[in-house]
Amino acid sequence: MAILDILHFPDPRLRQRAAEVDQVDDQLRQLVDDMFETMYQAPGIGLAATQVDVHKRVIVVDISKDQDEPRVFINPEILAGDGVEEMDEGCLSVPGVYERVQRAEHIRLRALNSAGEVFELEADGLLAVCVQHEIDHLDGKLFVDYLSQLKRQRIRKKLEKQRRLGIDDTAAAEKHAEPVI
Ligand code: ZN
Repeated sequence: MAILDILHFPDPRLRQRAAEVDQVDDQLRQLVDDMFETMYQAPGIGLAATQVDVHKRVIVVDISKDQDEPRVFINPEILAGDGVEEMDEGCLSVPGVYERVQRAEHIRLRALNSAGEVFELEADGLLAVCVQHEIDHLDGKLFVDYLSQLKRQRIRKKLEKQRRLGIDDTAAAEKHAEPVI
């Protein structure tokens, strides 16, 4: 297992659309293991392959407190969504930033598991929000895209300044109660 580097906004590689996985093999399962290790270490509750510069449609999620409910979604597809959920979201690729985003409250989705088998799942609340956030990553979209341009520019400047000064915002992120997806 290995900890992978997480790309940060505004890295243009976060804008790439990930390709469908056509074979779930040992190499892909290795990627999944590495993604879990990276996500748990961050710590976060979701991670998309795009964030670690692998442009394949793979996401990992674990919304449990004890990090003992790992979920893998390969080629995830939202079949239906309804209702409105508003939550403060954070993102491992946008460290230290939390903003309110509106998403579907309830979704039905289809994906492959790590054995390459198709499954369907109904999700709501935090799990639904997390999956929608991660699927956005696979499409090259970030949660800051839901904010006003002015706000997005302010966030971009803040992150660029932090990088320039070599500030790591992980400590601030850990103090925040909202989930980092
Ligand atoms: Zn994210």
